[in-house]
Amino acid sequence: MVGVDLGGTKILAAVFDEKHRVLSREKKPTRPELGPQTVIGRVADCVHDALAAAALPHTAISAVGVGVPGMIDTRGGVVHVAPNLHWRDVPFSKWLGKQLDLPVAVVNDVEAGTMAVQHFGAGRGLQDFICMFIGTGIGGGLVLHGEQYRGAGGMGGEIGHMVVVAYFGPKCGCGNYGCLEAVASRTAIVRRIVKAMDDGQKTVVRSLCDGDTSRIRSRILAEAYRQDDKLVREIVNDASHYIGIGAANLINVLNPQAVILGGGLIEALGNRMLPRIKKAAFAHTIAASDERVNILDSGLGDDAGILGGALAARRLAKR
Ligand SMILES: [Zn+2]
Repeated sequence: MVGVDLGGTKILAAVFDEKHRVLSREKKPTRPELGPQTVIGRVADCVHDALAAAALPHTAISAVGVGVPGMIDTRGGVVHVAPNLHWRDVPFSKWLGKQLDLPVAVVNDVEAGTMAVQHFGAGRGLQDFICMFIGTGIGGGLVLHGEQYRGAGGMGGEIGHMVVVAYFGPKCGCGNYGCLEAVASRTAIVRRIVKAMDDGQKTVVRSLCDGDTSRIRSRILAEAYRQDDKLVREIVNDASHYIGIGAANLINVLNPQAVILGGGLIEALGNRMLPRIKKAAFAHTIAASDERVNILDSGLGDDAGILGGALAARRLAKR
């Protein structure tokens, strides 16, 4: 099985054995500005390289599964809208399938990540839980009665657009103000740091990114936090507070067994952020019982996407 996580900045591909253990992995920048045909070609290259690294021929693989950030018609294999990639109505499965000569499943990336958490991560054995993926944006997966809930129109779980700052919140990519994503995603954190730097505030981020703020990623934030950088600590702690408020809202509405956190920012800074997220969440949950919901790390790190892709591939191969 091959699982692929196609993000706005990078493509991750991995070859898995029957027990979903990683045999090899490859990584490439996405370069969405080159257009869908070229990006799909890059995905194909990534899969070829991963197969070569695992010393496996094509014929040893039954299907490829890809998680894509956008609205997907999984049955038809079409990416309807993917804002981060600037795609509209791309016949993904057909195009990639032709290049690889293999069946290709395409699923929403957050849905893929949630599936992975349910099968291999902290969601194993749970019937009701919520995934919060914190990275470039904020995505969510709702597993209710053991099934992923997608709502009437398939848009369920858009937890990044819960309003957590009611008055004068920052503008969100969706057009509203004060959404969780606009105050607590990595993009929002970096925006605040860059503004503070422009205003002349001191921070080690300036030297960590060699003066090029477009290079600020989760890893640089984690390093600045580790070095006790006052500005980064303050801004990351603020984000944790808002994620906790978002978690409390979800807990109060859905009464889940667990809220499970994942995504690039949590992978890099989870041990710093989790205690603050929990503190803020439990300060805002209603005390219906002593049995408190568990708030924890997914345990999958950056592998949630590729594992979810592999599960989608398996589902397609069985069909
Ligand atoms: Zn929004």
